[in-house]
Amino acid sequence: MSDILSQISDTSPPTMAPGEVVPALIVIDMQNDFVYGSLAVPGGESIIDPINDLLKLPFATKIATRDFHPDNHVSFARTHNQRDFEKKTIYHPEDHLEKQGIQQVLWPVHCVAYTGGADFVPGLNSMEFEAVIHKGTHPRIESYSAFRDIWGKGETDLPAILQDRGVTDIYFCGLAGDYCVKYTAIDAMQYGYKTWLVTDAIKSISNEETWLDTADAKGIHSTTVEELMKKMLSDTDRLRMHIN
Ligand SMILES: [Zn+2]
Repeated sequence: MSDILSQISDTSPPTMAPGEVVPALIVIDMQNDFVYGSLAVPGGESIIDPINDLLKLPFATKIATRDFHPDNHVSFARTHNQRDFEKKTIYHPEDHLEKQGIQQVLWPVHCVAYTGGADFVPGLNSMEFEAVIHKGTHPRIESYSAFRDIWGKGETDLPAILQDRGVTDIYFCGLAGDYCVKYTAIDAMQYGYKTWLVTDAIKSISNEETWLDTADAKGIHSTTVEELMKKMLSDTDRLRMHIN
């Protein structure tokens, strides 16, 4: 383990002492509805194997997130008798004066809790996950970030788990690159983590590149599955992975 840590810390800021890097892998929303179902992301199926490769690497913790909505969720077009992909201004349930409205895209019904659509996609090595974070579980609250809701009022268990494990660096993969991966990665930076996107293990609904140029995303790093394997495994380990 010490070899792995010292290799990773080569890319860390000079102020960080060797051995202090604690990497976490967060796999975002690899669920049936986002791969094959009502809100399928183009190419979603193609990142299952790359993500399984990442799950073989010696991260300090491996965490999955899932959209896990009640069937009358505020983000569903059906809930408002509107058409899919129309927009509507929504408010936090405690914002009785409707002061902080957020423009919500109204999605097709997706990832309803305890249905097949919300299950992990077949073939994903979900046994590797130490924790699964559920998002959007309250009927009137939407979350894209796995850290907190879109108003920033309520946190999930994720911040506490990462703090408890002493995580310094977070590597993100999964779906969708321009929604939940994006907002979780931006929050990861705001919570003070060195933040990485594993670009060939992410797929987006539209253009996955453009948001990385936005001000919010400045400071987010990019890497690939192959680069991470080189960084985290010895030559012998890599050989063994390819043989198996
Ligand atoms: Zn959702």
